Amino acid sequence: MLSGLTAGNDRVALRFGDESLTYGELASVAGSLAAGLAGRTRVAVWATPTLRTCVAIVAALTAGVPVVPINPKAGSRELAHIVADSTPELVLAEPDVALPPELGALQRVPVELGVSGTPWRGDEPDPEAPAFVIYTSGTTGPPKGVLLPRRAVASNLDALAEIWDWTEADVLVHALPLFHVHGLILGVVGPLRRGGSLHHLGRFSSEAAAKELAGDGTMLFGVPTMYHRLAADCEADPALAAGVGAARLLVSGSAALPATDHERITAATGQRVVERYGMTETLMNCGVRATGDRRPGAVGPPVPGVELRLVDDAGEPLDGETVGEIEVRGPNLFLGYLNRPDATKAAMHDGWFKTGDMAIRDPDGYVRIVGRRATDLIKSGGYKIGAGEIENALLEHPGVAEAAVTGEPDDDLGERIVAWIVPAGDKPTAAELADHVAGLLSPHKRPRVVRYLEALPRNEMGKVLKRALHD
Ligand code: ATP
Ligand code: MG
Repeated sequence: MLSGLTAGNDRVALRFGDESLTYGELASVAGSLAAGLAGRTRVAVWATPTLRTCVAIVAALTAGVPVVPINPKAGSRELAHIVADSTPELVLAEPDVALPPELGALQRVPVELGVSGTPWRGDEPDPEAPAFVIYTSGTTGPPKGVLLPRRAVASNLDALAEIWDWTEADVLVHALPLFHVHGLILGVVGPLRRGGSLHHLGRFSSEAAAKELAGDGTMLFGVPTMYHRLAADCEADPALAAGVGAARLLVSGSAALPATDHERITAATGQRVVERYGMTETLMNCGVRATGDRRPGAVGPPVPGVELRLVDDAGEPLDGETVGEIEVRGPNLFLGYLNRPDATKAAMHDGWFKTGDMAIRDPDGYVRIVGRRATDLIKSGGYKIGAGEIENALLEHPGVAEAAVTGEPDDDLGERIVAWIVPAGDKPTAAELADHVAGLLSPHKRPRVVRYLEALPRNEMGKVLKRALHD
């Protein structure tokens, strides 16, 4: 699973601030921990963004023990749910952090860097065995535990390596949390599988990211809120823009990157951000190649090995340029939701996984995500309207800093379009915004109601929690 992990390999594998480990050191510290984990059914990792968390993950992964990464900022209800649902045998955590009472009953194993042993020499586990149980972001409902087999992790990382020309020479600049697919599988397992390096910034700042990219950092994996900040900071500071401009590859995912931010980054740094689209259950489904056409609003074609189709409401495959739900199939698929055979069954359709995301395809096969079937597809006046397109149009108005679009019941229209706006400077009126959208798109796509907010409700990945908007 992890190619560089051999004794004597002096390349830096992991760096967090002042602390780093070479592959040889990592093989040794993780090896002694792995020996103590072998044979366990499932272990939790208290996933602070630290070197020790990575060591714990590498140890469990090499010993073939499934890891449940836990968000250290999760609230008590979510923590209690995850612990009761995933029933880990123990929790791996930094020696000096206080764990909350929800984990109190679990045996605690401290992860220490001083302990060294021999690299793990067990057999490579069965590819179909689960490597992780990762909980979904909970954007549309309570988080579900996703059983991810080793085969999905390995094949998906290799597909990404192919499209992004990702090699052991790459140094990934990372500032994401370590308990979701993006930060954990792409961000930690990815560089270690390639034999390259990972530099974690702890907290994201444009300055720190630019400094790394101006130095030996080659790639940045970020979420749209980071690129939004980078866009503004690069516009304000040419030195910072030059640092970001030195990157080999900037990748965005986890939510749609607004077209305005894509274009602002390009104008300020000369870089065009590559988008990819994935989810916990499937890992990455689509991605723009490093050498591919980088088109704002498009997540590229399916990654190698993944089959993708769009289907209509009746589940019939669609041809041509029509909006449909994305279904995927391939070695990237999960094994099922933990303890939720009902939800697993409901998510499958003749061997294809129903993503719940709606998209349209460009003639050359590039996929454009329209939004989620449940929250982003508005049925108004006989039309099916995607929220994302209206959000992008609203963001082009100078008086709009952030925008989210939803539908709410309407006697005449079925649903009416509601725009939730965080104003930038002077508050634009509802009529002004409706005219702006009608002028750019078409009249039936104009918001009928505008609500002003100080900030949009977002989770730690920057995803807008649309169900919280209506509360
Ligand atoms: P839950 O399933 O618990 O409601 P979630 O779907 O947000 O939460 P994740 O698996 O973390 O949990 O996120 C996957 C979703 O993120 C995708 O289904 C898609 O809606 C969205 N997404 C990921 N990448 C992109 C992208 N590049 N553009 C648009 N949406 C994206
Ligand atoms: Mg989901």
